[in-house]
This record gives sequence, structure tokens and C-alpha cells, in this order.
Amino acid sequence: MSRPLCDYRRDRTQSRDPHDRSVRTIRLWVIFLVQLSAVSFIGREAVAQSAKEIELPITVRVDTSNSEILAVYHLWKNYLNSRPDSIYANPYWSEGEKRRYSDCDFARAWVYSSSSILHAYPPKLLSITQEDSAYVLRTLYYAENLEEPYRSSNPWAIQRVYARREGGAWKLFNPLPVLTKAWNRQQIGRILFVYSREDTLDVMLARQSARFCDSLIEAFGLPAIDTIEFYVTRHADDLARIIGLDFALGATMGRSNAFNAQVFSAFGTPWYPHELVHVLFAREFPTHFMLGEGIATWLGGAVDKSASELMKQLDAYLTEHPELTFEDLLDQPYLEGSTALYYAAGAVWCSETSRIGGASAVKRLLSHGTTADDLYAALKEILGLYRGNVMRALRERTRAIVTAVR
Ligand SMILES: [Zn+2]
Repeated sequence: MSRPLCDYRRDRTQSRDPHDRSVRTIRLWVIFLVQLSAVSFIGREAVAQSAKEIELPITVRVDTSNSEILAVYHLWKNYLNSRPDSIYANPYWSEGEKRRYSDCDFARAWVYSSSSILHAYPPKLLSITQEDSAYVLRTLYYAENLEEPYRSSNPWAIQRVYARREGGAWKLFNPLPVLTKAWNRQQIGRILFVYSREDTLDVMLARQSARFCDSLIEAFGLPAIDTIEFYVTRHADDLARIIGLDFALGATMGRSNAFNAQVFSAFGTPWYPHELVHVLFAREFPTHFMLGEGIATWLGGAVDKSASELMKQLDAYLTEHPELTFEDLLDQPYLEGSTALYYAAGAVWCSETSRIGGASAVKRLLSHGTTADDLYAALKEILGLYRGNVMRALRERTRAIVTAVR
């Protein structure tokens, strides 16, 4: 889904060293926390400038005396000034890629994760270099004069994008098809697995993923997506790189793009149920963050843990913190340094809804929209909860689920 960096998680992936991966996951969350607060802080300063044109300074590696390079420079600058954070048929992007993918810039949701990001971290074009018939553009997103504690949350990213002629005009292209051109491809069920030539596909897990999708489509009556692209990498930096980020402050072990039916994993396996749930549900059911992550966590686990393990964590935390309100929880998705408790709360709502009304009720729960008021409306309609009772119900239902599975 389009939320930034929400997906440092997996469930039952085949880790050779689970402890190492857990540590890495925690570290990534810490980085993201700092990053989030920096964007929030800098973003406030930047909102006032958001109507200003994005300037695009260059380094000496951009030779604008070359007419083609100058044309490519203006193409990129025009793109950066045409709401690149929004999903629409951006005139500067390849027509071919727009026909195939509705969210044409695969790095969009990550690098432009808020409309003010380009003012918070102004872009600087590092280089334009020729590669076969294309030009490769590398852009640094960097904030000048940051103070502590935000100074280390900088730069935001280094982005790579390609420019080629298409129908006589210069257009922008994703790095993904170029960087994965020589990778292996294997279609299993409705999933096209793409993985590097050094790797072999774990076919058992790949089939498990395909069956997982089929079973959810059938159980929930979801639209049948013909092909889900599933990119398997072995490192967070490799994942970022094929999406188009040569450097990203908040590295992530997994991402999905429901608009394009794409999953990206850095865990080296073709099994990532949480992200597959996002691909199957997020486009059909644009819902509140808690419920969107809740359905993915309930059905696919999160953060190396199953939904039931996460609900146990939530139960223990709620018991230790009787003062915590539901508003607190909504305001602080990163309790205790991770989103695990927040996701678990969403999973509890989905589990409880399923218990009462089955798959159709779950779909109704997810159909109320994305705001906090929408979330409260959904809980009222489906579970009969008034605002004042929501936290008590969350505590009771979490305890009931945890007790039942013990
Ligand atoms: Zn997620």
C-alpha cells in the first residue's frame, strides 16, 4: 500500500538467523522513528513553501551544454513540479509504463511520502549519465542546516530514474525493468516471482504464497488479480535499489504496491503473506491505517510473529497500561518503538468482526474510509461500539482471544 515504510515485517519466513533479523528489524524501526519525526518537524516548516516552484540545482556532473542532457534535466524538473506524490497520468512519465501500471513511479509512495517532502528535503541533481539509449539521473534529497536530533535524519534519499525517447519525446522510466532485466522469472498460480540469477526459488514456499492468495480471494470474494509481481531480494538496500532508491534513510524489509499488484521482499524468500494481503485488499478497501494493517496482520502476521503472538503482546501491554486510551493508541502508532501493538489492535477488530459476522462483515468493516471518524463509524456499525466504549472493548476482546488460544 502507499503508506511509507509500513512494512518491516514478515511472518514465518524462512530465516537462517531469526535473531539477527529481529535485531535488524528493531534497528530499522528506530531509524524510521527518527526519520518520521524529522519529516514531521521539517514538513511543518516546509508547508508554507509548498506553493513555491521546486528548483533543481545541479553538480558539475550534469553537463547542460549538451542539448539532450539539458532536455532531460528539464523533463525531470518539470516532473518534480507536477505533484509527483500523486497518482495520475503524469505527462512526463512513459506512456507504456502508465498503460501497464496505474502508480507509474514505483518510488513515489516512498520518496514522496508527503506532499511537502520536496520542500523539506530539496532535490539536487547529482548526475545525468548515458547508459545505452537511456540517461540515468541520480537525485539527492537533502535538508540544509538541520539541527539535532534531526541532523542524522539526512539525506532523505538518493533516487535513480531513467529517461529515454518514447514516440519522439523524452519520458521518464522506472529502474525496475532495467535492473531486473536479467533476473529469473517464474509464474506460479497468479504470482510472477522475480529473483536474481544467483538465487533459486523455494518452489514450496512460492506455491504456498499462490495458494494463500487463491484462498483469500475465494474466502472474501475479492477481485481476482491476474498477476501479482513478487520481487525477491536478500537485502533492504537491494529492495530499495530496484524500486529506484540508491539510498533510502528508512530501509525496509518489505513493501507492497496494491495499485500495481507488486510485492517486494528483502528476506530472500517468496513467502510474505502480510504484503500479499495488502495487495489483495488495499485497493478494493481503502480504509483507516489501523484496519488496513489489521487485516494484513490478522491474516498474514507481522514482524516475525503470527497474529496470535502479537495479540498476546497487546494484551500484556494493555494490562500494564490501564491509563492508555484509544485516542492515545491512534495518536501513537509507534508505541514501544514499533507498530506491533497498533497492528495487533487492528487485527483484534478484524478477528472480532469475523467471529460475529464472517467475511462479509469484515469487508463492511473495511469499507468506511480512512479517517479516525470513519474508523469509529465502522466500529459502531459493525461491532456496536460507541466511542466511549472502544478501549474497554479492545481490552476485553484482546483478553478473550488470547485466553481462547492458550
Ligand atoms: Zn502492512
